[in-house]
Amino acid sequence: MKKVLRYWKINTFILALAVATGLHFKNSAPGQLELVTNGKSQYVIVVAAGSPPQVQRAATLLQQYVEKMSGCRLPVTSTLTGENKGILIKEVDGLKYDGFRINTLSNGAISIEGGKSRGCIYGAVRILDKYLGCHLYSPRYKVIPTSKDLRLPLLREADSSVNSLRIVFTLNEFSDDADLLDWNRITNRFPPFADNYYCHTFTHRLLPPDSFYKTHPEYYALIGGQRVPDQLCMSNPDVVREVIKQMKKDIPLQPDRLYWSVSQADGPLYCRCPDCQKAIDEEKSVAGPIIRCVNQVAKEFPDKIISTLAYYYSLVPPAITTPRDNVQIMWCGGDLAAWGKIAKHIYVWDYVVDYFHYQCPYPSLFMAQPEVKDQVSKGANEFFIQGNIDYGMEFAELRLYLYSRIAWNPNVDVSATIDEFLKAYYGPAAPYIRKYIDRITDAYERTKDKKQLIINTPPSYYQDTYLTPALMEEYNTLFDQAEQAVKGQAVFAAHTHLARMPLNFAAMEIAKHNMYGPGGWWDASGTVRNKKLDDLFDDFYATLKKEGIRDINENAYHLDDYKKHTVFTTSNEAAIGNLAFHKKVTADSLPPERLHRYYSNDLSMLTDGARGDDATRNLFWLIWPDKEFNITVDLGETKKISSVDLGALWRSGPTIPPASVECFVSTKENKGFVSIGKQEWRYDQQKTGDSDWRYVYSFRTDTKARYVKLHIIRHDRAISGRKKGMPVQTFLDEIEVR
Ligand SMILES: [Zn+2]
Repeated sequence: MKKVLRYWKINTFILALAVATGLHFKNSAPGQLELVTNGKSQYVIVVAAGSPPQVQRAATLLQQYVEKMSGCRLPVTSTLTGENKGILIKEVDGLKYDGFRINTLSNGAISIEGGKSRGCIYGAVRILDKYLGCHLYSPRYKVIPTSKDLRLPLLREADSSVNSLRIVFTLNEFSDDADLLDWNRITNRFPPFADNYYCHTFTHRLLPPDSFYKTHPEYYALIGGQRVPDQLCMSNPDVVREVIKQMKKDIPLQPDRLYWSVSQADGPLYCRCPDCQKAIDEEKSVAGPIIRCVNQVAKEFPDKIISTLAYYYSLVPPAITTPRDNVQIMWCGGDLAAWGKIAKHIYVWDYVVDYFHYQCPYPSLFMAQPEVKDQVSKGANEFFIQGNIDYGMEFAELRLYLYSRIAWNPNVDVSATIDEFLKAYYGPAAPYIRKYIDRITDAYERTKDKKQLIINTPPSYYQDTYLTPALMEEYNTLFDQAEQAVKGQAVFAAHTHLARMPLNFAAMEIAKHNMYGPGGWWDASGTVRNKKLDDLFDDFYATLKKEGIRDINENAYHLDDYKKHTVFTTSNEAAIGNLAFHKKVTADSLPPERLHRYYSNDLSMLTDGARGDDATRNLFWLIWPDKEFNITVDLGETKKISSVDLGALWRSGPTIPPASVECFVSTKENKGFVSIGKQEWRYDQQKTGDSDWRYVYSFRTDTKARYVKLHIIRHDRAISGRKKGMPVQTFLDEIEVR
């Protein structure tokens, strides 16, 4: 131990001298250090006994990757002996957050110094990545060059992030790949957050009403003169005591976790008891009593960071009380700069993704940087960036690479970073993919005043902005060129083809929206199918299947379900022989625009020959909140009819078929209607499976009619599911008359 200590002292001195005299080491001259020669090495990795796990991990990474590259396994030891040269890894003070410093020392030793937490790991990774050429781009694509001889240039480099916590949200393959996360200098959410302690913990984790409400209603929020178990009363000292008591039980179960959330439950309610109200008045903010409470908890656990939400009613920082140094504000809106002035830890959640359509072309690559820069300038220093979260989603690998680097350094050159990744990941296809990215980004920029990118919108929403037919053709041409450029290069070709799938997806979805129009699945008569779209679908399905990509949205929407729904939706059955196809529909109450924000609320959707499916429900269904309403179809002329069908969406909760539908027919406008039947739907009509998303009200008749009127009465409230008790909405699609 002594020897190591002395050694460090001397070298720190030499280093200081080097800095003082302006002596420069050149990074560009390789071969200065013989790390491995002919499969053998003089180097040993030195980690002091009792070093924290992250220092051990830095040593292990170095050892593993050097061995993978050269076959030479560098020993890891706690002391340096004999003529060995050391790679000395240790944590030091004075480096910001998880910053690192790597240096070559005068005797050929290498020093990796890291700030507390993961600095040493990032130092070791830097050597492997930048100087030895080990690049990790995705869980499935890692470039690890092999050679019996490894050379290092003289090292002299330091780096650190302005942000102390960087999470780029990933799942499954990405989040399971610890090496990939370390290469990107990011972490998962759990750790560092404690399991079950991410947010909204007041009642679901800390003081569950099941355990306390009966015996201590006063622990809960006083709202309208009643104690309501939805939120806690912040100013009751017993509440603080119980919270601390619960955490004293929980923290030892997850001793390695740094972040523990003590935060309001979801929803708009908060306590209005006299004490809470007094605190709110004094602090001029509902966050006042919350921060006062959280500060007391934080004081009890000084080596943990206690996280709380600025959310809903707590967006305004308190006027008097400032959060303790170990309190994190999980910021969800409001005046960030005002929080930045009083809080040491501000955690920001940035969405740059369409999580309802993982395969939607989504030109948001350049949007994260300005946001993060702005937020950092206002005091944020902890980030949760949600891009595409798993392998194979639209540019997911690029997004992980890019967003990680933005989180580390908000001033990083985004364009150069994208190029760097594209070149490595797509090889000769890179210039074309870059052109595609620039083209689609530019097309979006030029039209964003008309339509902003919004999470959860389908590609068809953008069909008149950045996904017009002409632009789609341009994009596809660029991908044709890209694929041509990597022909015969299996890995690059597979990456390139996968990157193209969002264009297939967009074409298929836009065509569903426009089934019998230009570019739709069928010609105007509904008799000639657009085979090109079937080919796009087959390619999409086969490519994702081959890559093992299962889900195509965040709600675990399975590729196989997408196939099933696509077959259903794109059938022409609702057009052929349907006397109502493209016929005029009127209603005495229109489906309100607010329920169709991103989609059409046009009544013509009911006779467009496309039946609504379960997944793209907002695309096809018309939604009525009304208790009772009438829809009438004008067949154009009096015809002999034998059946009338009306489809309704059937989910649990508030999306259930109407309580009753009665069908009337007439040969005259607005009069002479005769009922041909009434059908009821009851809650006890259980679904037989998940595939029963559609319930059809079916009427048989043998009469002549020009007008078909459907009188619809919905149920009052949902009696099942998560939204039990909520008002019911009626989703209808496709009236078929034969
Ligand atoms: Zn209260």
